Amino acid sequence: MAGQAGSAYPQHFHAPWNDGMKPDTVLLYNKTMGGVDNVDKAIKPNQSLRKSYKWYKKVAFYLVELSVYNSMIMYNTTQNDQVGFRRLNYEAFVKSIIHNILTKFPVARKPRGRPSQSRVSVPLANMHIPERVMKENGYPSKSDCFHCKTKLGKRTITQFKCLACEKRLCIGSSVFNCFKFYHDEMVSREHAVYLC
Ligand SMILES: [Zn+2]
Ligand SMILES: [Zn+2]
Repeated sequence: MAGQAGSAYPQHFHAPWNDGMKPDTVLLYNKTMGGVDNVDKAIKPNQSLRKSYKWYKKVAFYLVELSVYNSMIMYNTTQNDQVGFRRLNYEAFVKSIIHNILTKFPVARKPRGRPSQSRVSVPLANMHIPERVMKENGYPSKSDCFHCKTKLGKRTITQFKCLACEKRLCIGSSVFNCFKFYHDEMVSREHAVYLC
């Protein structure tokens, strides 16, 4: 445990009249061993252990929890000079770790009913959705529509691109919408490949 020392020493040195005879490490242990209680107090309500677990699983989970607790202490100690720093307790710290992991590695949900291509969880960056391109100065960045230029031989200025294809595509009315045309063609191309 962070900040603890001598925890491997037996507890039969507890008698206060006996302090003068104890090694320094034991005195330090006795002085700081309250930390062990603090850890248990913090971890217990949020414990991942279950009665049915084998003892070695309990040990493994406890070691993970201890590591998380130590990380929390290090986080609270090293970050407290940052602007807007908020000290986290064990539960809040664990939740923030879970939140960060799930944000970075989203869990693909199993689709109910018949499997459908469109219901599979896909990272946002891989989805064909229009995105307005902005310049560093905050104004929209305008460029030629890829579909207009290559398929229709004309220039149409657009602020949008497809997030997945990274292609500039204009978004017009329902009868003239390169974003739709381009992706319709892409889908039919992919189907053609599957049919081959
Ligand atoms: Zn696309
Ligand atoms: Zn276009």
